[in-house]
Amino acid sequence: TPAPSSSSSSDLAASLPDLPALREQYAALQALGLALDLTRGKPSAEQLDLAEPMLALPGEGAHTDASGVDVRNYGGLDGLTGLRQIFGELLDVPVAQLLALGNASLTLMHDAIAYAHLWGVPGSPRPWGREETVKFICPVPGYDRHFSVCEAFGVEMVTVPMTPDGPDAEAVAALVADDPAVKGLWVVPTYANPDGAVVSEAVARRLVSMPTAAPDFRIFWDNAYALHHLTANETKTANVIDLAAQAGNPDRPLMFASTSKVSFAGAGVAFLAGSPANIAWYKRHLAVQSIGPDKINQLRHLLFFGSAEGVRAHMRKHREILAPKFAAVDRVLTERLGDTGVATWTQPQGGYFISLDVVPGTAARVVELAKGAGIALTPAGATFPYGRDPRDANIRLAPSMPPLAEVEQAMDAVATCVLLAAAEAQAA
Ligand code: PLP
Repeated sequence: TPAPSSSSSSDLAASLPDLPALREQYAALQALGLALDLTRGKPSAEQLDLAEPMLALPGEGAHTDASGVDVRNYGGLDGLTGLRQIFGELLDVPVAQLLALGNASLTLMHDAIAYAHLWGVPGSPRPWGREETVKFICPVPGYDRHFSVCEAFGVEMVTVPMTPDGPDAEAVAALVADDPAVKGLWVVPTYANPDGAVVSEAVARRLVSMPTAAPDFRIFWDNAYALHHLTANETKTANVIDLAAQAGNPDRPLMFASTSKVSFAGAGVAFLAGSPANIAWYKRHLAVQSIGPDKINQLRHLLFFGSAEGVRAHMRKHREILAPKFAAVDRVLTERLGDTGVATWTQPQGGYFISLDVVPGTAARVVELAKGAGIALTPAGATFPYGRDPRDANIRLAPSMPPLAEVEQAMDAVATCVLLAAAEAQAA
């Protein structure tokens, strides 16, 4: 397999420092005794501090919302109306088709698949659990926890490549056309994890209008990074729910989002949007498992943000902290690897990740070398179903958590590991 750049292997040999020199560099790196972690896309403490005043909300005595709902009590399965209004505006969906629920959108995705297995979705001939085989299309590289949910339910994963405009729509269309076992597709439409791609309007239209053999095919539209811009260009993703309705397939998309990386990770509010039939379906099953969400936390969010503009302004503060870290990754990788032909990487305009492709066959070795020098990277293969990257080339970088100086130091170290692994592969 060729290296992920246009360089031929002889160019590569010419531009790489020699193996003994790289081994020396690596030994010097190990001697620094670093302990840095770029594994998961967590917000930094500095980002979490932005929402610190929320910890004092709603405050003693403040327990009703604008419509007089006492948030201390049971009820209100849909979530607080005021909060749904704010996020309805931000996600571009009607309030009636948006639920504000618990603390994690991953739970909603998991539960939607669990409900589908137990009872089917609107349009299912039978519960998915009674099908011989259920398959989901997974664009790769993708989000490891989507793959874990599929694995837990025994859903077979079929991969398609990601493109800069989102999943390869023609590859998806070909897979869904004849095989009724293909019930689902994962899409992270805005600043995808990990490659930062944004689904174009054309791809969104194709995905909601393509003929599917399964009458109950669903797109799990995980809009986790809808608001997480790294530049002044606040990209608005295609409105999948409108487009699906226009295409005559209103029930195809289920949209998920949360404030995990807006307010507090793990203590935010998660949202589900969809067609009226999908929302009624979800609520019917949810009502058996819950009398209502944590409305106190929802009121805390409502009071803190106040409006959609309040959320946007807050996200600009996140951007001020995050953008320099992403710029640092790009700068260090460009300085160290730019002319070598041994790596390519993404320059995301938002989200939490950079996707780094190294010489095929060396990603696991790069991660191993990094570990040996005190740098924790996401395991190679994590961005592929079953943890298996067939080319052993992709590494997900998550620069949000460490302070800027550590991001720079870590990337410099990673660059050394990428070079050493490439030189080792070439010498082998
Ligand atoms: N979806 C994607 C694409 C993510 O990257 C993440 C977190 O990294 C999540 C969902 C998790 O969201 P939540 O905290 O709402 O469960």
